Amino acid sequence: MVDPAMQGADAALRGRLLWFVGDPEEIGEKAVRHVEDGLLVLSKGMIVAAGEARALLPGLPAGVAPVDHRPHLIVPGFIDPHIHFPQTQVIASYGAQLMDWLNKYTFVAEQQFSDPAHAARVATFFFDELLGNGTTTAVAFCSVHKESAEAFFAESGRRGTRMAGGKVMMDRNAPPALTDTPESGYRDSKALIAKWHGNGRQLYAIAPRFVITSTPAQLEASGALMREHPGCLMETHISENRAEMAAVKALYPECRDYTAVYEKYGLLGRQSLMGHCIHLDEGERKRFSDAGSVAVFCPTSNLFLGSGLFDWRAMREASRPVRVAVATDVGGGTSYSMLQTLAEAYKVLQLQGQSLTAFAGFHAITRGNARALQLDRLIGSFEPGHECDAVVLDARATPAMAHRMERASGLAEELFILMMMGDDRAVAQTYVMGKAKKRRTGP
Ligand SMILES: [Zn+2]
Repeated sequence: MVDPAMQGADAALRGRLLWFVGDPEEIGEKAVRHVEDGLLVLSKGMIVAAGEARALLPGLPAGVAPVDHRPHLIVPGFIDPHIHFPQTQVIASYGAQLMDWLNKYTFVAEQQFSDPAHAARVATFFFDELLGNGTTTAVAFCSVHKESAEAFFAESGRRGTRMAGGKVMMDRNAPPALTDTPESGYRDSKALIAKWHGNGRQLYAIAPRFVITSTPAQLEASGALMREHPGCLMETHISENRAEMAAVKALYPECRDYTAVYEKYGLLGRQSLMGHCIHLDEGERKRFSDAGSVAVFCPTSNLFLGSGLFDWRAMREASRPVRVAVATDVGGGTSYSMLQTLAEAYKVLQLQGQSLTAFAGFHAITRGNARALQLDRLIGSFEPGHECDAVVLDARATPAMAHRMERASGLAEELFILMMMGDDRAVAQTYVMGKAKKRRTGP
């Protein structure tokens, strides 16, 4: 009998499929779905079947010819839950830690985003770069200007990508050209939510930049936005750097720690994506766990800015687990590649006597990050009913990788080579809702 779901199939991808149905750090290899000669069957960009090619090929409607990516791996598109859209020309700025780096480089570059033409030009680059690296979903901070969020969402709409983003709110401790007010930040965010949240695949992330750049009145307004829009995400920063923490203590002496500031204004919830979380203490981790907030690990940024080492094991402590995610944090981060991000994550854990297996790493940047965004019913998996965002990976993409692969045995080793040596060169193709989107870049 022909599966009725297959009758509407209009495309298929053939290759070595890999996705996750659980967390390998919790249930081991039972979490892994791997089909050596697999077929993804699609209808209108949605996955209707995923499994053995020999079992599924006979059920494909006549005229549907699979795109054959063998011997490459096909995995769900990567998800980057913390990246700054206006920092594409801040990445690789020399010699500073967080507060100086913000003032010297970032707050200069972000001022250009009041210009819609500049924002549109950078948006084109930004989406080319994300898709070139296999990243199909990101949660982005835009600049304070609503024009920057407009450019971000308009470009995402054109590409058909599932993206989240928000204009940052900041009303103090920044140049006048980069500040809003509690009222205008609230009003502009609200207008952007009305226009973009749930518009096609777009989602809004309410974005108070961090405690230092918002007055109490603005944090109050941010909390109101979260209460009024519980379907939106919230993105911010916390406990990245010691000087930052001292400044927070001086601004909010009545709060017992950094987390307490966000709690005070109702900003610590399940939709809260809290960037960095490097210096949280045990009491704060407990409160994160109770609130269901997400600690977002940004390894390349944490190393580049000398911020510190994210304690993965402490976060995941089974007695009070904190939800975790892994992100680039470009432009504090030094690579758009989620593969390179995993390489640095592995090293950060090594420095603390911890480890990150290849399966745990690939889970983190696909299903794990989808769960952090509460989008795991839609993305991050090849189970039927999911949107077909996918990345095709070539573990022999460079001479050094091909040479290393001569001595590799097994899927876990191949994934580890991809995670340590791979970058955009290892991305053979990126699919967004079943459509090939990677453009040739470079000379
Ligand atoms: Zn950041």
